[in-house]
Amino acid sequence: MPFDPFSPDDIVKTCCKLESGLNLSVEGLRACTRGAMMPPLFCSPEEIKKGVVTKEFIIEKRKEYIRMLNDESSQIDCKSCLMVEQKRYGDIDFSRLGHVDLQHYSFCNLRCTYCAYTRDEMHFSVQYDALAVLRLFSPNDVEWNAHVDFAGGEPSLLENLEEYLEFFRTRRIRVLMFTNAVLFSQAIYDGLADGSIYWVITSLDAGTPSTFKALRGKDKYLQVIENLSRYAVAGSKGKGMLAVKYIFCESNRGDDDIAGFAYAMLALRPQKVWLTFDFAPMYMRQSGYDYSRQIEAYAKLFLLLKKHGIEAFHYYKEAIATVSREGRDIMDRLLSAIDGQSSTTPFDVSDLIFRDFRNGEPPVEIEPDRFSINPLKLITNNGSSRQLSVEGKRVLLVPACPLTQKILSDPEFQSADWIGFVDRNPIQQGKQIEGRTIYSYEAISSMKPDIILVAPPEKHRLDILDAIARNAPAGITIAEIAG
Ligand code: SF4
Ligand code: SF4
Repeated sequence: MPFDPFSPDDIVKTCCKLESGLNLSVEGLRACTRGAMMPPLFCSPEEIKKGVVTKEFIIEKRKEYIRMLNDESSQIDCKSCLMVEQKRYGDIDFSRLGHVDLQHYSFCNLRCTYCAYTRDEMHFSVQYDALAVLRLFSPNDVEWNAHVDFAGGEPSLLENLEEYLEFFRTRRIRVLMFTNAVLFSQAIYDGLADGSIYWVITSLDAGTPSTFKALRGKDKYLQVIENLSRYAVAGSKGKGMLAVKYIFCESNRGDDDIAGFAYAMLALRPQKVWLTFDFAPMYMRQSGYDYSRQIEAYAKLFLLLKKHGIEAFHYYKEAIATVSREGRDIMDRLLSAIDGQSSTTPFDVSDLIFRDFRNGEPPVEIEPDRFSINPLKLITNNGSSRQLSVEGKRVLLVPACPLTQKILSDPEFQSADWIGFVDRNPIQQGKQIEGRTIYSYEAISSMKPDIILVAPPEKHRLDILDAIARNAPAGITIAEIAG
């Protein structure tokens, strides 16, 4: 048994990805990939093929890198990562499967100029049996919040795509599928329709066929639009969701592309639009690289979509801005550019708001009261605040996420008569978090809650409030966590 350098009561620096993450890449196995940050490899593809990887091997590597993170003299990228937190060593379970990044191949049917695989001419076939590595973990090892970023390369080109999807479905791991949508996949459509694929995410990055061809390397714009249209229909069934992404680069920041993309989204009606930047210049440490024109173009597209009722999500907020100070700086500059441009953009012109024809009904907009913790208070929309008593009250938490899990164990809430959680994802429904069950929105009224506490991630906020408004009984308290 290898030497364990910490005792259970030691408080150590750690991170959830070092504890339970797995990045299966063409370079081998590691804890995670965060773009600018790269923790060291556990082993190479050759070693995986030789069979060195066992569950015990992964556990020992996780311990080794947490030891390095806590050792002042060692070199490890994680030391500058904003995800690092402190924890009692004895509370860490190294045997779990949490966030999976699946990228054990890099072949693709496009050649995007911003893609590292294009830049390095690295189009590798499948490097090892990633499913065999994942199968080292039993269904009981899977964390309730486990998810896979199913990327690559292009997943729709995998011969055994359906085998992977079946594995994740039966292990009840949420799938975020990153596909370029050049090929239509019935398996992806079906997964979206039944919710076993939680998100399909496609970068379109252009509003014109000519920009798409120049940026993505193939003349496939109209084909991608057509396939996205089908995936949007699958997403409109209310289980999985389609997100169409725009990565701002030097070559797609012109007005033709902004207008073309915005009106394409109004026609396709994906469930979400995500905006971000090409961060390659930042990763490659191009000093003095100027994001100003991309920031201006981003703000323009964001406001054009907003004018027509589409609230785009700032995708980089969950990515680069969580790990890098430079990423946060770009985010701050963008938010002030949006503020600056919004003074000249007309909103709330009802004739300009394009209704979601796929859902039939317009979203129900509610603005719930807020609640604060420590001390526990209810802050009403008119600004008054009073103590919020949960004693003996039947309380539901929405959605099932790490933040609502924290609320469940907060001392101020211990007198509540907890019902459990609500989440729209069928893969999550029926699971338990600390003994409390995750239910569907449709089940809310039959559970007769007194209070619904909501702590929504920003990108789902409007959808979550809409779903609560449609399903909650009248007269109960609905409160959103104060920011
Ligand atoms: S780079 Fe950050 S998120 Fe990834 S393992 Fe290291 S500390 Fe965790
Ligand atoms: S679609 Fe994805 S994997 Fe393929 S070239 Fe573009 S960025 Fe790279």
